[in-house]
Amino acid sequence: MPDAETTPTSPAQDASLEQAAETPTVPKKRGVPEGLWIKCPGCGASLYRKEVQRRLNVCPNCEYHFYVSASERIQHMLDDGTFEPCDDHLRPTDPLDFSDRKRYAERLVAEQKRTGLTDAVLTGTGMIRARRVAFAVTDSAFIMGSMGSVVGERLTRLVERATEQNLPLIIVSGSGGGARMHEGILSLMQMAKVSAALARFDKAGGLFISVLTNPTMGGVAASFASLGDLVFAEPKALIGFAGPRTIKATIGIELPEGFQTSEFLMEHGYIDRIVTRERLKSEIAQAIDYCGK
Ligand SMILES: [Zn+2]
Repeated sequence: MPDAETTPTSPAQDASLEQAAETPTVPKKRGVPEGLWIKCPGCGASLYRKEVQRRLNVCPNCEYHFYVSASERIQHMLDDGTFEPCDDHLRPTDPLDFSDRKRYAERLVAEQKRTGLTDAVLTGTGMIRARRVAFAVTDSAFIMGSMGSVVGERLTRLVERATEQNLPLIIVSGSGGGARMHEGILSLMQMAKVSAALARFDKAGGLFISVLTNPTMGGVAASFASLGDLVFAEPKALIGFAGPRTIKATIGIELPEGFQTSEFLMEHGYIDRIVTRERLKSEIAQAIDYCGK
């Protein structure tokens, strides 16, 4: 859910502290809401909740992909019980003593309590259909999945581990927030840091499959998420840099309908393949084999 309190109010702030304030297709309620029956935001059908969950939180009617948390994503994509977390001891701090409507230090504690995560990314190693991989997933529930120092550092260390151990690297992005404005320039540095680690990984012959999910915006889209040797996306995901309102306010041009969806970006060469959640695990395993990794 886009946190109203983190939404910048002035255009200047919006432009300088790049973050996706507009995430219109992010469901208001995260994931599959409680209750026996749920309404699909995609087709409006009433769905039996357990049926949706059984289908990895995808609508059986229209294939609307509901939000999934980082830990659910690990269950969906890695072989049972194979995930071994790395660098979980790294915890966010508040180096700038930043405060918007709430102190950042307090926001962190509240987000940790609410999501059960210590920051917006989980990293580690695991198996995908018996192939060992380095794996990361960002969670848009934690300050919009934005990239602060801990997200950047955990990802960088994961890439370095993948380089040392010659493991295929899979990063699933669900980040509506881009770089985390609460950490200012320290957040922006993470873009360069992770990208540099990925360049070294690439030089060493590594295979990086980037999986874009709804939403992937801002500094996350502008750095590691776009750097995959293969870029997969879930259907109808919101993917882009700034939101449409910000673009319009900045350059005064109305962009084409749906220009920030997986389908549009696939048509224009930004994404290699749209893969449904159900097929994701198999397609990644296949790609690893095709690439001889
Ligand atoms: Zn539906």
